[in-house]
Amino acid sequence: MGKINVLDKHVAELIAAGEVVERPSSVIKELVENSIDAGATAITVEIKNGGVTFMRVSDNGCGILKEDIRPAFIRHATSKVKEEDDLDAIATLGFRGEALASVASVSHLELITKAREEETGTRYLIEGGEEVLFEDAGCPDGTTFIIRDLFYNVPARMKFLKTDMAEGNAVSNVIDKIALSHPEIAITYIKDSKNVLRTAGDGKLLSAIYAVYGRDFAKSLIPVDYALGGVHVTGFISRPENARPNRNMQNFFINHRFVICKTAMAAIGEACKGSVMVGKFPSCVLNLDMSFNAVDVNVHPTKLEVRFVNERPVFDAVYHAVKTALMNGERRKEAHLTPEPAKPVKRVNPFELAQKVFRERDEQPAPKPAQTPLPKVDLREEKKRSDALFELLDEPVVSTPSLNQTAKLSDSVSPFGDDYRQHIAEKQAAKESEPAEDNPEISAPVEPQETENGPVQETVQAIEEPKPLIEIDENYYRYIGEAFKTYIIIEKNDRELLLIDKHAAHERIIYEKLKKEKGSGYSQLLLTPITVTLNKIDYNAVIENLDVFAEAGFDIDDFGSGSIIVRSAPQYLPLEDIEPSVIEMAGYLTEHKKEIRSEKMEWIYANVSCRAAIKGGNRSTEQELIALAKQVENEDVRHCPHGRPVCLLLKKSELERMFGRVE
Ligand code: ADP
Ligand code: MG
Repeated sequence: MGKINVLDKHVAELIAAGEVVERPSSVIKELVENSIDAGATAITVEIKNGGVTFMRVSDNGCGILKEDIRPAFIRHATSKVKEEDDLDAIATLGFRGEALASVASVSHLELITKAREEETGTRYLIEGGEEVLFEDAGCPDGTTFIIRDLFYNVPARMKFLKTDMAEGNAVSNVIDKIALSHPEIAITYIKDSKNVLRTAGDGKLLSAIYAVYGRDFAKSLIPVDYALGGVHVTGFISRPENARPNRNMQNFFINHRFVICKTAMAAIGEACKGSVMVGKFPSCVLNLDMSFNAVDVNVHPTKLEVRFVNERPVFDAVYHAVKTALMNGERRKEAHLTPEPAKPVKRVNPFELAQKVFRERDEQPAPKPAQTPLPKVDLREEKKRSDALFELLDEPVVSTPSLNQTAKLSDSVSPFGDDYRQHIAEKQAAKESEPAEDNPEISAPVEPQETENGPVQETVQAIEEPKPLIEIDENYYRYIGEAFKTYIIIEKNDRELLLIDKHAAHERIIYEKLKKEKGSGYSQLLLTPITVTLNKIDYNAVIENLDVFAEAGFDIDDFGSGSIIVRSAPQYLPLEDIEPSVIEMAGYLTEHKKEIRSEKMEWIYANVSCRAAIKGGNRSTEQELIALAKQVENEDVRHCPHGRPVCLLLKKSELERMFGRVE
């Protein structure tokens, strides 16, 4: 056995470097955070080739004193921990004095810095951890780091780097988060000689959001500002109608550092129940200011996921912050880039005043922390509404017990269906206008105006005039109708009843077609191309998988800095579904990078066909339903892409047995 060796300094540094320096984006994160800690108000980041060959971070911060330059590159050397008391806060912020030592050991590093209190600046060169040059230099106050040829001396790490584009977008993602968390710093970001981001540094979060995600996104936001239990939540959340199919545009910061915060995500989900559709997630940029002691320091500082000593106050603060913001957002139509000027006092217009009173009566007051929890208020409102509905529902059912076929048929319709409600309302209106001497007990033929346009009338017709038979492969079919706007009812060979789920059937048919034609025959040019804003990681996933999108019928171009432009999309995909579909696919591709291509395609075809298919609950024409039923029988469609059944079969003989017609 050999004896234990103490690793030499260089080898030890190479091993340690791996912890902090994984890829260009981690170097940029460390350097920019140092600039922020140095009190910079302007930071410029420049990268070339995804940062692999060149990265520069310049700031106008305090600079580094000559005597501190060499120590700054020693592992565990930091100017940021002075007392043991600082340790909790420090551990959370990740001041471990490792970044410079690590970066210097795996690159050619150049530092140009001048401390405000010193006359001259310094130029310092380190190559692979070894000092090469230390000289005076004329330069402005502040610090510039230039990192060239990252991992030039660690081929194993070099091999793990992705394409320049992927690395570059990871850097862009880091810059976006920093820009969003520090609107008071003017950040300029140059990528391959192109200026891709410039924030104003005016301290306004909305202008930083504008710079990062664009005008349309910034325009649709609601401000959040709420403090509860030692947690101050500020920022913006998207309007419920702009919610996205995944959480990738939910940005959380704790004390202005980007984190992945499951507690806040859960709180938003809870606060949005009822206003955001299930499976949709509002975008947000939220900062949580709280004591460092509340954050669990046992989580590794370079890990982004954050945990709390006590989750409850964080959850409650975010929950109430979002709930209040959404309610206020109902009143304010748009978040403005500049605060609204104070309105001049004006004479009260009585009409406006009446409108205001009604509006305020209808709106619920914004809750204060100590008030009754919100859901109760909602429930009471809900109950009032449903009581009113039931009053309406009860009436005709009781007063027209056996009036005619129409009434009986409507009894069998779900009492909560829109048609039913509409029908009852119409009936009631008709009744009110009826002359008093009319006796409802007398059975009379159905008045056409009573059932006009309603499904009841269609059903009545179905009974009176049987639909023609349709022949497919020596089988005879008769279309009977549609139940619950979802199930197609068909008689087959006078022996069986088919119930077809129209959504599942259509979904399966589209899925098979997409799969067969590989999108080509299924794609349709959009009259107006749609631009979609994504976070940089999802953007990257789209750009790297343009062929996958093409195969699913989406023709997409790179629109630069986080945006893509969709020029064509699969036929039948409703216009409003194109953007969410692309966002969802991007999120899926980000999370399932390693999956084989055919698996990815399966998922995408299923996703697109689900969105493109007609929906249960939506109106369809008889022709559509017959065509769909024909296809189901023709192509023997049995299950939807998610495995649910498409068609149920009920034998006439079974029905007869159930009704006691035969033994
Ligand atoms: P840490 O940030 O944990 O202290 P680093 O290795 O990142 O460790 O940096 C070491 C030290 O170098 C810092 O504590 C700070 O004193 C100094 N430093 C690094 N970057 C800058 C900068 N941009 N401006 C001023 N000082 C800096
Ligand atoms: Mg640092």
